[in-house]
Amino acid sequence: MARKKAGPVPAELQRYSRALNKTRLAAIMGVAGMAFVAVASYFLGPQWVKIALAVFLVGIVSSLLSVGGTYVGNCPHCGTKTPYVHALGVYIVKCTRCGKPIKVNKTKEGFFFRRP
Ligand SMILES: [Zn+2]
Repeated sequence: MARKKAGPVPAELQRYSRALNKTRLAAIMGVAGMAFVAVASYFLGPQWVKIALAVFLVGIVSSLLSVGGTYVGNCPHCGTKTPYVHALGVYIVKCTRCGKPIKVNKTKEGFFFRRP
């Protein structure tokens, strides 16, 4: 039963986290967007509502596309399991225990937590 350890282990994708992250973001964006549209129509007049809605829709779609799953890997400094939410352009996460920055390397094999 001895499993050979071949190199570093990629961070583990949390089950359903991709859908959960997208749903949570959509909910936040929905509330923020409605407030934004309400403010726009109240202060700027009804002719701005269409523009506000368009901006809001573009925002929701692009953020839904950019957010990914939650990956849990070991901190390269202290070994603590640390979650990382995959979003476009964000590849640095702070360890939950030691607070040191962790660089997330995206490869074909998955996400690897490294020292920056
Ligand atoms: Zn740490």
